Amino acid sequence: MRDIKSIHIIGAGIMGLSAGIKLLEAGYQVTQLAECFSPNTTSDTAPACFHPYINPDPLLFKCISQSWKEYCELKTIIPTIIKDIPFIELHPEIITDEIYGYDSKKFLENLKDFRQLKEDELPEGYQQGYSYKTLLIDITLYLPYLNEKFLRLGGIQEKKKIHSLNEFIDKTDLVINCSGIGAKALVNDTDLTAVRGQAHTLSPLADLKSATLAIIKDSSGYPEHPDYALIVPRSNNIYIAGTTQVNDLEMQPREKDQTMIFDRCAKIVPAIKQSKVTNSYVGFRPEMLLKNGMRSLKLYYEFFNNQLHVIHNYGHAGAGISAAPGSAQEVYSMIKKL
Ligand SMILES: Cc1cc2nc3c(=O)[nH]c(=O)nc-3n(C[C@H](O)[C@H](O)[C@H](O)COP(=O)(O)OP(=O)(O)OC[C@H]3O[C@@H](n4cnc5c(N)ncnc54)[C@H](O)[C@@H]3O)c2cc1C
Repeated sequence: MRDIKSIHIIGAGIMGLSAGIKLLEAGYQVTQLAECFSPNTTSDTAPACFHPYINPDPLLFKCISQSWKEYCELKTIIPTIIKDIPFIELHPEIITDEIYGYDSKKFLENLKDFRQLKEDELPEGYQQGYSYKTLLIDITLYLPYLNEKFLRLGGIQEKKKIHSLNEFIDKTDLVINCSGIGAKALVNDTDLTAVRGQAHTLSPLADLKSATLAIIKDSSGYPEHPDYALIVPRSNNIYIAGTTQVNDLEMQPREKDQTMIFDRCAKIVPAIKQSKVTNSYVGFRPEMLLKNGMRSLKLYYEFFNNQLHVIHNYGHAGAGISAAPGSAQEVYSMIKKL
């Protein structure tokens, strides 16, 4: 094994923090450099419900299933941050194993209390639905928890924008690139696409206990990125979201998107009409172009310019929270093989 002691991580979203902690626990010296820290990363804008993800590529699925095991263990350690949540998933069309992805569908069917919804339980315009229990990882608490743990384990953090990997040559043993959508500019990854998501929090409602995800048919103009209505009750608020706007880089929340998201969500869960918008967010999912209809990610080793060891770990699209602990494990496994 190569003599690696000092590791620099670019990025302080869920990927950078999860990888950082894994490597600190393994005894490496870790420095994290990021332009933005929580609460100003894309990771802060996710709800975040654990979801097996529809048709992920095999590597992403591997990360997601490994993450499930880790989150289930973590639930017993931080039960106020990671909790079970009843989840309802609605599809406007019949979803075959092939569309969902065979492994993903099997994973879904093994979740606690899984069942297919009966026809009379489906809202108008929906042909298939599932009900099951998954995990709610309260991101408003989980990212601060990770950040605090990273520092407690001796990790060093520095607020800094990196313009090129060349900046690290002769300065570190290894770089882990967890820059999310920032990788597009940082490593000139033309496959990486920003998929804008606007989200809002609403005042809480005591009676709302289940989260609901409803896929919206023919909404965004991009069939591979259908919009959705997502309603998630959290400890202090209700989270709603649902836009998937490809290559839309508007960072400010838009009034018309807010109205569209609220109306779509209220159609599925009318109770939220009693609730008021309390905050608005925008995030950019780092998504790779689809390959054969499947999502892909960038998780690989590169000997950059024959001078610098780099592991790339970005492009987890709308599954970054669900895939983070497993991706960190993959990064660690790659380092052990170097
Ligand atoms: C509305 C919405 C809802 C979502 N819902 C879910 C969900 O329910 N479940 C789920 O699993 N996923 C969900 N996602 C996806 C998830 O949020 C992302 O996949 C995940 O946050 C990506 O994490 P990351 O750490 O790779 O990127 P980020 O969180 O974007 O972090 C990137 C980090 O890199 C830094 N950086 C970038 N470029 C540079 C540079 N040049 N120099 C220095 N630092 C740099 C940034 O400042 C930041 O610290 C959702 C996303 C959105 C937008």
